[in-house]
Amino acid sequence: MRIGIDLGGTKIEGLVLDKGGVERERLRIPTPGTVYEDAVEAILDVIGRLESAVGQRCTVGIAHPGAVSPATGLIKNANSTRLNGHPLKADLERRLGREVRMENDANCFAVSEASDGAAAGCGIVFGVILGTGVGGGVVIDGRPLTGAQAIAGEWGHNPLPLPRDSERPGPRCYCGRTGCIETWLSGPRLQEQFEAKAGRSLRATEIAEAALAGDIEAAESLEVYCDRLARALAGIINILDPHAIVLGGGLSKMTQLYDRVPELWKRYVFSEPEHIATKLLPPRHGDSSGVRGAAWLWPES
Ligand SMILES: [Zn+2]
Repeated sequence: MRIGIDLGGTKIEGLVLDKGGVERERLRIPTPGTVYEDAVEAILDVIGRLESAVGQRCTVGIAHPGAVSPATGLIKNANSTRLNGHPLKADLERRLGREVRMENDANCFAVSEASDGAAAGCGIVFGVILGTGVGGGVVIDGRPLTGAQAIAGEWGHNPLPLPRDSERPGPRCYCGRTGCIETWLSGPRLQEQFEAKAGRSLRATEIAEAALAGDIEAAESLEVYCDRLARALAGIINILDPHAIVLGGGLSKMTQLYDRVPELWKRYVFSEPEHIATKLLPPRHGDSSGVRGAAWLWPES
């Protein structure tokens, strides 16, 4: 059996999947304090309790923020900064006496949806997180693409493609650049764009609901959002040519995206517009994708 752990800023979630991908056990604890060593102990505790519950030693996969630097073996780019600069993989492997597979949480989302989720059976899958941040992960034949810097799929800090005059130079991003995809497509930025236009404050999913209910300003904001998302994803399609793109994160609940964005990306993808086979899909496993994808980092167990 396989254990998946989702190491989040506020909670550590763990589950056990059996050979067929059926969930056998699940456990959730608050992420302790701010000290790195406490996080390590908490992860080991969750693994120990799950293995006791199923009565066997399991493979271990971990979804975590940021990435394990291929150059140093240390965690980098994590928003829960207590992890940055620490050799989490080596520390866990030493304590557990076995290999531990670790991937960025967006990569685990993509692995989950490609393994037994919305994109099961698809060879090349791009998983997109649209939430407070914008991230992504690439899965090829069930395996996450990690890459030379362990940043494969991190499209949120690419510039928005084909910017209109009104979109240049674009908003400043915390990464130090301007006009990053994340500064156009994150939930908080959609909320800001709508507020600037309509003088009302609605969260992203509320804008989508209002548009469905006939609110013209909400529909206009959503259409602009869909066009930006279509341009951003067309850039991915031209490079990766994925069979499926699966949306995750809070904004994946905006149902209009799944019809409208593929209609719009026909204008931008370098292929015959009437024969674009890439599917845009809602997630199947929702909030469980991180922890399930972590378990699926061991597909062969
Ligand atoms: Zn940026």
